[in-house]
Amino acid sequence: MKVKKGLGILALSTMIIISGCSTTADPYPQNEQKPVTKVEKEKTEVQETKDKVEQEKKEIDLQVVKPNEAGQIMVLMYHAIGEPEAEFTRTPENLRKDLQYFYENGYRPISLRDYVSGNITTEAGFTPIVLTFDDGWQNNFSMIQDTNGEWIIDPNSAVAILEKFNQEHPDFPLEATFFINDNIPFEQKEHLEYKLNYIVDKGMDIGNHTANHANLTNISAEKIQKEIAAIPKMVNKYLPEYQINLLALPFGSRPKDKSLYSYLEKGSYEDIQYRNIAVLNVGWDPYKSPYHKEFDPLSIHRVRASDLQQYVQGVGMYDWFKQFEKGNRVRYISDGDPEVVTVPENYKEVIDSSKIEDKELRAYTLTE
Ligand SMILES: [Zn+2]
Repeated sequence: MKVKKGLGILALSTMIIISGCSTTADPYPQNEQKPVTKVEKEKTEVQETKDKVEQEKKEIDLQVVKPNEAGQIMVLMYHAIGEPEAEFTRTPENLRKDLQYFYENGYRPISLRDYVSGNITTEAGFTPIVLTFDDGWQNNFSMIQDTNGEWIIDPNSAVAILEKFNQEHPDFPLEATFFINDNIPFEQKEHLEYKLNYIVDKGMDIGNHTANHANLTNISAEKIQKEIAAIPKMVNKYLPEYQINLLALPFGSRPKDKSLYSYLEKGSYEDIQYRNIAVLNVGWDPYKSPYHKEFDPLSIHRVRASDLQQYVQGVGMYDWFKQFEKGNRVRYISDGDPEVVTVPENYKEVIDSSKIEDKELRAYTLTE
């Protein structure tokens, strides 16, 4: 988040500089030197800092960093965080172990929003990952009382574990999406407002998992819309400005009738309209770069965040990480510059120019 906020400030400064130059009547006629004001001096300094940042970003050695922004990204699917480890439960200790593994092996979290919109600010040489938590378990975000009776976030709940890891490793961004239902998410009604605000204030996201964890296979268009619209309706009572536009399909199930797929993306129920920018499946493998011709934001694959073989049928997240690291699956490696999409020459053809929008496409050839 820090990186993004930093860029935002730079972008704003640039806008100020530009608009500063285009003001109308110039009180100083040509040839007459303008006095340099303190503000202008500061603007120049901001511009110099910006130029320096730009230059540092561009000065990566492609042969060393080997960026490949056509490679794949893993969207990890967690559920409960608790004891004991089970099909849909990861222990707090194992979640900490996972974060340590990601950190040490070159993975860095990005938000689901940034993934689908292709705004990837991951540091050069690192691979983005997306962390998701389904079902709004209390152990994702639990409030407990300490010995003085003060309410604190349970240090073994997902939010606290992620936040602590980020505090200890500031280069590991605090990014995750919590997909909730309409049954008192995270369970403690008296703390709900605090929790929803907390997640958003910290730069993490709240996603839609339907009102009743509905199986959407055989239900009507009206019911699909009712199920989906309930979450923005509930969340916006507490956070009127917050956009609920990320949907994780319960059970990964889609309507049998394909003509109803459009309601997963957009629809309305009573006075609520929704438009989802991402629809997530359940399972089963790393998914495509957001710039890839076949990337479909409305059908994103996820990987089950578990390493228990009896539940993951031989392909848990650590199997996929190994595939990435051996090169059997090609992973996304960032060039560090969100404005440039860098790929090895032979990947150029899989890039969809409409998906990179106004970003620059840079292809290079590995010399080794
Ligand atoms: Zn679920």
